[in-house]
Amino acid sequence: MGEIIHRSKTRPVRVGNLTIGGNNEVIIQSMTTTKTHDVEATVAQIKRLEEAGCQIVRVACPDERAANAIPEIKKRINIPLVADIHFDYKLALKAIEGGVDKIRINPGNIGRREKVEAVVKAAKERGVPIRIGVNAGSLEKRILEKYGYPTADGMVESALYHIRILEELDFHDIIVSLKASDVRLAIEAYEKAARTFDYPLHLGITESGTLFAGTVKSAAGLGAILSKGIGNTIRVSLSADPVEEVKVAREILKSFGLASNAATLISCPTCGRIEIDLISIANEIEEYISKIKAPIKVAVLGCAVNGPGEAREADIGIAGARGEGLLFRHGKIVRKVPEEKMVEELKKEVDKLAEEYFAK
Ligand code: SF4
Repeated sequence: MGEIIHRSKTRPVRVGNLTIGGNNEVIIQSMTTTKTHDVEATVAQIKRLEEAGCQIVRVACPDERAANAIPEIKKRINIPLVADIHFDYKLALKAIEGGVDKIRINPGNIGRREKVEAVVKAAKERGVPIRIGVNAGSLEKRILEKYGYPTADGMVESALYHIRILEELDFHDIIVSLKASDVRLAIEAYEKAARTFDYPLHLGITESGTLFAGTVKSAAGLGAILSKGIGNTIRVSLSADPVEEVKVAREILKSFGLASNAATLISCPTCGRIEIDLISIANEIEEYISKIKAPIKVAVLGCAVNGPGEAREADIGIAGARGEGLLFRHGKIVRKVPEEKMVEELKKEVDKLAEEYFAK
């Protein structure tokens, strides 16, 4: 299987200490669910998101109280902060002044020209990029009238409308999203957008649902888009704790070999040959490696019949045997470990590999 080649032609756009687009990795984003003016709760949630692997965080900025909280939030977190603003240019100005690293606002919805100019001028001065967020559910009336219903063409047309407003003001630090809850529509819209302009694309399947259904839907949609080499940032939207969004996003990126800072678990589905309590071992190891920031592949297999062979790609693994496990490296058995010591031994080996990786 060939590697996924990422579009190298997207324009690199700086967001805080990160660069989105260009040849850079796909970056994981999430959004807080707390009231932004509640600084304590918001910072606490962002910290949990950071720990889970979130690289950029967005907060809703619906009113002045939220905009006023931005400087304090910014001071206490380590990842770039994005303010999500609808219509109100004063909130955009306040957020930029407060130190946000990016704003999400659609310039065509701001209103009078002077207001748009004020926001663009402030963003330029502070080096703050703007994300244009097109949503199939809130397309401009005239676009809906033209196409009859939300279409990929209509979504790209809407994006271009907002892009042109910024370009006319000589503003190019633009990121675009074209979200839809209909997976096929989202795929088509992102494909068209990637052919139409070179601004980095923020991917999302919006309102995708609860933890289980939303995970499947996001994986299907985002996976299809990523597999075409499209996408610079990614957000999974779930009706769940946003930490789950980050975990799912990481898993999706890992399945495409697009996360260099995460370990992967390979575990067998189990069958009648099973010799060990595989499911609990796999869950324990999965939890453990979620904190490992190195691209190590760990395999946990129920038996030695197909085990090591099935996981030849793994750096380290365990294959169950009666009352014990065979520890293997790159498909070769290295030693036996009693069942009760398996998890502990595997964790030690993982730590060793991570250390070696970082020492390189
Ligand atoms: Fe069955 Fe062994 Fe394959 Fe697991 S590794 S599915 S137990 S044959």
